[in-house]
Amino acid sequence: MRVAIAGAGLAGLSCAKYLAERGHTPIVYEARNVLGGKIAAWKDDDGDWYETGLHIFFGAYPNMLQLFRELDIEDRLQWKSHSMIFNQPEEPGTYSRFDFPDLPAPLNGVAAILSNNDMLTWSEKVSFGIGLIPAMLRGQAYVEECDSKSWSEWLRSQNIPERVNDEVFIAMSKALNFINPDEISSTVLLTALNRFLQEKNGSKMAFLDGAPPERLCQPMVDYIEANGGEVHLNRPLKNIILKDDNSVKSFQIGGKEGKTLENIYADAYVSALPVDIFKLLLPKQWKEIKIFKGLDGLKGVPVINIHLWFDRKLTDIDHLLFSRSKLLSVYADMSITCKEYEDPDRSMLELVFAPAKDWIGRSDQDIIEATLLELKKLFPMHFSGENQPTLRKYKVVKTPLSVYKAVPGCQKIRPSQKTPINNFFLTGDYTMQRYLASMEGAVLSGKLCAEVVNEAKENLSEPQAQEKA
Ligand SMILES: Cc1cc2nc3c(=O)[nH]c(=O)nc-3n(C[C@H](O)[C@H](O)[C@H](O)COP(=O)(O)OP(=O)(O)OC[C@H]3O[C@@H](n4cnc5c(N)ncnc54)[C@H](O)[C@@H]3O)c2cc1C
Repeated sequence: MRVAIAGAGLAGLSCAKYLAERGHTPIVYEARNVLGGKIAAWKDDDGDWYETGLHIFFGAYPNMLQLFRELDIEDRLQWKSHSMIFNQPEEPGTYSRFDFPDLPAPLNGVAAILSNNDMLTWSEKVSFGIGLIPAMLRGQAYVEECDSKSWSEWLRSQNIPERVNDEVFIAMSKALNFINPDEISSTVLLTALNRFLQEKNGSKMAFLDGAPPERLCQPMVDYIEANGGEVHLNRPLKNIILKDDNSVKSFQIGGKEGKTLENIYADAYVSALPVDIFKLLLPKQWKEIKIFKGLDGLKGVPVINIHLWFDRKLTDIDHLLFSRSKLLSVYADMSITCKEYEDPDRSMLELVFAPAKDWIGRSDQDIIEATLLELKKLFPMHFSGENQPTLRKYKVVKTPLSVYKAVPGCQKIRPSQKTPINNFFLTGDYTMQRYLASMEGAVLSGKLCAEVVNEAKENLSEPQAQEKA
């Protein structure tokens, strides 16, 4: 079967890869001149990379790790020590660590929490542990029910002190969905905690050894092409053209260099677009169909990724850090954590700025000034006195509509990969799969989509072939 796929983010490429593996012919059309969507990256004039987002791979990502194995690129994941490291704003320049010992789950997680005495008191740890019991006993069904509550509401319903939020979960919530605990659905945090506590290496983190488009997306494209598929850049989906029965007749794709529109005919059609863009392209005949109407409730959240190149080393930490700063989320010194960005003498800090709703419209200059002020609070020893580091250059990458904002109530409106339109399918991190809005979620959604397209093949190839003839 020929399958036209719009979007070459992880979901579109994953769908194409697994379709090619099953003997189908995926043709991927990407609007931009770069692969990867939310993991896209670019080189500046000095040859330095800058990225849409600081990206972390977790041990709890089975489909992503399997993909690395299938592509034979496992050595590109740079695994870090099994720890979670938090800045301590009240003691600037110091860190608080949760170190997971080499024990089976959940003992390693329990030991990591119990042995950290900087952030939570014993009574807070006990009340949090008791609060988690229903999630541990009732598993995913309970986690899904909790989508009616924000994380702050859930903590209150379990009588867990607010300080637990301030100390740990503001940072976790901003890292997972770029919003605060009073907004994020408790399903998101409970899903992550379940994975981290139930799988021995669930919370172990890895950095890719270079820029995602080259080091992860390109091997996917090579695989797709080697198996008969195609991937085209600079070819945006402009319109979904329908037949009289409201199934898809063609994808109307922008021609190269803005030239005329071209109708692409296939046996099946897949949207691997971000949800906000898909909603704009939704044909009016489909707008009242329940699965598509529900998408009104899914909206991308703003986030900003910042790169600061300094003239000297500021940290020696080979890991992700949770800043616990008001404006910033996680950050890392990429000159240490990522092989291709390595610099033995100078730091390159990559920082996620979130929540970003009040900042997304501000100038790069304003954002950098605010970021430097936050860094001065975290590391006063570097930014006071005479011999202060010089910021050599910076880059700000804004994503006004990134992953869907995971507020309460989203789980029931996330669409399945199969739609009521017999030759049209959805993939993307926002579609229903158990890993929420993440790289793992995107890869899994692509795989699930390839499965449903393949299952539909008996109903698809014949009529379409006749129509083209
Ligand atoms: C700042 C930031 C940090 C993140 N950190 C992490 C992390 O640490 N760990 C993690 O697991 N996840 C992280 N994520 C989330 C992760 O990047 C996404 O969940 C995932 O990459 C989404 O993939 P996708 O294929 O569903 O969507 P996208 O990547 O958005 O792909 C959609 C593609 O469609 C293309 N497109 C748009 N319009 C058209 C059109 N008209 N025609 C054709 N193509 C079109 C886009 O250009 C894009 O390539 C982060 C995201 C951001 C923004």
